[in-house]
Amino acid sequence: MQFLQGLLLASSSILYVFFAYYAFRHREVPGAISLGYLMLATVIWSVGAYFEIFASSIEQMIFWRNVQQIGVFGVPMLTLSFAIKYTLNRALSKIHRFLFVFPAVINLLIFTNGYHHLMRSGYDIVENAIFGKELVVHATAFDTMLVGINFVIPLLAVALFFDFRQKIGVAYKRQVTLLMISTLYTFLVTALKMSVLSSIGIYISMSVLYIPSAILFFFSLFRFDYFNLAPIAYNKVFDVIHEGVVVINKRMRIVDINPFATALIASEDKIAVGKDINACLKASFQFELAALSGQMTTYNLSCGDNRMIDMTYHPIIASENIVGAVLLLADVTGQKEYEKFLIERAYQDGLTGLLNRFGLNYFHDKHEGYQSLIVCVLDLDHFKSINDQYGHLNGDTVLIQFSDMLRETFTDHCEVARIGGEEFALYLYDQTLENAFERADTFRKRIDNHVVFTEDGNAIHFTVSIGISISVNANEPLKLIIARADEALYAAKNANRNRVMLYETNIANH
Ligand code: GH3
Ligand code: MG
Ligand code: MG
Repeated sequence: MQFLQGLLLASSSILYVFFAYYAFRHREVPGAISLGYLMLATVIWSVGAYFEIFASSIEQMIFWRNVQQIGVFGVPMLTLSFAIKYTLNRALSKIHRFLFVFPAVINLLIFTNGYHHLMRSGYDIVENAIFGKELVVHATAFDTMLVGINFVIPLLAVALFFDFRQKIGVAYKRQVTLLMISTLYTFLVTALKMSVLSSIGIYISMSVLYIPSAILFFFSLFRFDYFNLAPIAYNKVFDVIHEGVVVINKRMRIVDINPFATALIASEDKIAVGKDINACLKASFQFELAALSGQMTTYNLSCGDNRMIDMTYHPIIASENIVGAVLLLADVTGQKEYEKFLIERAYQDGLTGLLNRFGLNYFHDKHEGYQSLIVCVLDLDHFKSINDQYGHLNGDTVLIQFSDMLRETFTDHCEVARIGGEEFALYLYDQTLENAFERADTFRKRIDNHVVFTEDGNAIHFTVSIGISISVNANEPLKLIIARADEALYAAKNANRNRVMLYETNIANH
């Protein structure tokens, strides 16, 4: 029987060494390192149990029993450590290393028991019918209490797994369930051993009983290989994504924040976990969790440094209550600038840089509150023949120079647009008709006296005809005013061109 027990212990040790090696080889899997140490603790446990069986003196038996305690107190804490690392529990990860003070101190007390007798009051050797000599340790009340504490530690790991299981995707739940079962198994088998097996005199080392649990751990962790990357991947995404992620609780405190969000909204008050989001964001509005209906909402935050941040708000709902929110922040400064550029381009004429017809309409729609509105339509005379004579490129040069002169001349109370090929509009507000006529005619004369030189030295002389119309009421559509100015222009063309004509009701009848 001793031999069989020894064989089991030896083979379980080999199995645990293999598992430990495998776990350390896969250190990228969350919790793998804890699992590796867990396996090493069980190796120590098995080795201790093995040598205890074959020990020749009571001193040797006690020594090897003490060695086993490294496993006894190490395994539960390492199981908890594994659960903390595996579930990526950030809060517990911070205090993780301090957990090991507990087994370390206990083991120290056990090995120094000879000096203080805090843990054991004495030892007995009893003859066991099946297993031969057996060491019975008389534990002190203090030791019994520590063993009790040690005993419930795996339950904490189960609780962590259980909590984690609620929050994760379906595919991933299976793996966590298996890990939960194997942890529970350890707990139950320890309970069984302590209560039933020991009392009926069956001595089987826990390290042997632990084998199914170890196999299940490894099976669940490494068999479902494709799940292993998921938690690391989530963390990686959180850290590297070019979008700010902020998690806030219902008291508006920051619970978690990724590096991108920190860089995006960092202000003089350093943004950090635990701070109030409203104080950090310095938005023009205050976040009120209750005011949000629980729907996804988008905001534009204009930051002090002229950056535009687009924020989507995703409430986290538990039992029909908003318990917090995930805020996704995107820097849309570049996008907004590009949009502005595109809008400007859409309103602008490509050749001359003046407003186009669309832009003028937009200006008219936006422009309110003026006393009077006068529109002049300007059309170059016989432009077709300029193109025919000097070529299209020189025609363009004429159009560009004409536009520049328009822009330079009409700077006050007006807007200038190119509304057709060689047709322009002057939009004059808060001016008298006489003044508008005067300014248009002065400009016409300037054009008459202006000469455009072509690259090959030709001088192009050209003229312009202008029709003028005044708006009759404030809400009149621009195209009606232009249409009347066009009629006046038509009259000017008919009257031998190079002149300014006012729209008068009688023109239409001519
Ligand atoms: P009118 O005095 O009656 O206005 O005669 P016109 O020749 O100016 O009028 P018409 O409408 O017959 O011709 C306008 C010409 O303007 C025809 C077209 O080739 C020319 N044109 C329109 N857009 C452009 C342009 O962007 N560049 C150049 N070079 N020519 C243009
Ligand atoms: Mg023309
Ligand atoms: Mg024309």
